[in-house]
Amino acid sequence: MGQNTENNPAITLPFLGLDRLRMETDGEGVTTLVAAKGCPLSCRYCLNKEILSGEVPVRAITPEQLFRMVRIDDLYFRATRGGVVFGGGESLLHARFIRAFSAIVPGDWRILAETCLNVPQELMQIALPAVDTWIVDIKDMNPEIYRAYTGQDNAQVIANLKLLAEAGRCGDVTIRVPLIPSFNTEEDRRRSVEAVGKIGPFTKFDLFSYKVR
Ligand code: SF4
Repeated sequence: MGQNTENNPAITLPFLGLDRLRMETDGEGVTTLVAAKGCPLSCRYCLNKEILSGEVPVRAITPEQLFRMVRIDDLYFRATRGGVVFGGGESLLHARFIRAFSAIVPGDWRILAETCLNVPQELMQIALPAVDTWIVDIKDMNPEIYRAYTGQDNAQVIANLKLLAEAGRCGDVTIRVPLIPSFNTEEDRRRSVEAVGKIGPFTKFDLFSYKVR
């Protein structure tokens, strides 16, 4: 156990909900997904539009409150090398919360972050010691495809992949490389994998297709 943040109302999470007892969805182990509001991107096929809209009701919770909510699965986490997955929206917008949460949970829980990596490096540096496993959806490494699909630039994503490589964390990262109907092709995807490989020795790639509603 580490610092107590109960008296620090600045460190809270705009909490949307939990998804418990996920089996090997994020690699090894049983996990609980924690969904929180906020994302810097506007992906065309986003399944979580309500997360991006300002209308969905959220409540702000502290790291201690989240710990009390998820510790019911402590034995599962420990027995399977599972833990807590921060998702969203964009989990790393809440890097300070993740850091504070990691300091109060048992050391053998894994902390995972689902992320697009399109966040300032300051947030990466805060999250780096706290996150054990990174699940990175790069969309597409081609800046034009990325902008067309997300409305944003991917320079920050590339900088943060370099940061993870320089920190020696490539082995802790799964790179998700989607086929995005009407936006990229199998050839684009192959180029994305190649481009990531030039940044660092990333070896775990998850190739999949977005489902379009
Ligand atoms: S990164 Fe995820 S949550 Fe954010 S807009 Fe894209 S699909 Fe939606």
